[in-house]
Amino acid sequence: MPSPIRTPRLRARLLSVVVLCCTLLGGMLAAQPATAAVPVANPNSYHVLVTKSRPLNPLNYIAPDLVYFPGTNYVLRRAVSANLESLFAGARNAGAPLSVVSAYRSYAEQASLYNSYVARYGQAVADTISARPGHSEHQTGLAVDVGNANGSCGLGACFGTTAGGKWVAANAWRYGFIIRYPDGYQSTTGYTYEPWHLRYVGRPLATEMKTRGIPTLEHYFDGSNPTIKSPTDLTAVDSAGVLWNYPPNWTGGFAQRARVGSGWGGLKAGFTTDWNSDGIQDILAQWQDGKLTLYRGLRGGGFQSPIRIGSGWANHEITVGTWWRGSRYPSVVTKDGAGRLWHYANNTGGALSSQARGQIGSGWQNLKITLADFDRDDNQDVLATRTNGELVLYRSNGKARFIYESRRTIGSGWQHIESAQAVSGFRGPDSYGLTARTSSGALRHYPINSGGWGGSFTIGLGWQNYRLFR
Ligand SMILES: [Zn+2]
Repeated sequence: MPSPIRTPRLRARLLSVVVLCCTLLGGMLAAQPATAAVPVANPNSYHVLVTKSRPLNPLNYIAPDLVYFPGTNYVLRRAVSANLESLFAGARNAGAPLSVVSAYRSYAEQASLYNSYVARYGQAVADTISARPGHSEHQTGLAVDVGNANGSCGLGACFGTTAGGKWVAANAWRYGFIIRYPDGYQSTTGYTYEPWHLRYVGRPLATEMKTRGIPTLEHYFDGSNPTIKSPTDLTAVDSAGVLWNYPPNWTGGFAQRARVGSGWGGLKAGFTTDWNSDGIQDILAQWQDGKLTLYRGLRGGGFQSPIRIGSGWANHEITVGTWWRGSRYPSVVTKDGAGRLWHYANNTGGALSSQARGQIGSGWQNLKITLADFDRDDNQDVLATRTNGELVLYRSNGKARFIYESRRTIGSGWQHIESAQAVSGFRGPDSYGLTARTSSGALRHYPINSGGWGGSFTIGLGWQNYRLFR
């Protein structure tokens, strides 16, 4: 069994990387050093952090440069209004017209709103749905509640499932906005899911958060520096059993790698995933002896002591992903030694239970499985490689079932692909594709666009002795 993972050493490993995979050099030189972000207290900053425990200073702060949002009586800061106009135009062009439901609220307006909730629901409930005066983002002039122009699901969690809500979640970053209170982060933000509450942070920060998969402003500002920085990192074990992590440079290459741990020679397959949905990437390790262990990533780097979440998995080929859309946690689809395909639900962010499994296929013994959302509908699909190298698409319905349809062949020559991982953002925001290793040891990237494959390219050479995490 492996030694505990150590916090990575950040000293340069340049030479050994160059020898092993010389074409990574350009990417390494382009890498920016990580900077620790400090929460911004200046209420005039687009990056100001206002929470239930971080009020505005002064409490009765009045935002500068407030303007009317065109055609309404709603008020926002000038840059917010201009970018919201562009966002609304984008939504309209996409067939999902939006309107403003609430915008700037002064200290006095927030006080009367909060007091009305207290009168109706009591203070405990009021505190989960409304901010106290001086503690609301709406008082900064940087926050806006939006809704569908037809009013459906206004200020309701179901807004997130409407055309407007989906469009906003996918595209707000392009205009400098974030969904400030995403689903599943009440313990971090203090607010339940508010798919309608947009917060302007400016395009650079919104783009960075989108690209790096940072779920909340709190995560951004807590100075977090986890070992595995994002779902797009490439993690790999070398022939000496040393575990490495390669963060992307977001332009189609990798930044400098960091040593994560040693003693990983007995690994059968490794996965990086946010298994417990805390915003930090974890490692799921499948060992040759059939044990499945979970290493929960820590915000400041390193991992908690591993816990065993399963055993008897020696003959399984595992995939990990968002198999059940809307589920809080990622789950597992696995192929057993008899060629049966099973879905194991992850209901707790911890151990897997055989009671929580369901069979979803059979006859898969000669197919190799890779997980990717090939048709870009936000549901994880299976790409199955046949022994003759044909790649066949099994589209899934987001509920861990395959869509009943004739299977499309989407590639050939894939018998030479030994391992592949689907990643977002590798070539920049909104990019998607597979990073794969070939039997000759080339590391290649295969972009997946809305219409199918983009032009593939080689990232590095000399990877034949690495076991790539997926
Ligand atoms: Zn709001």
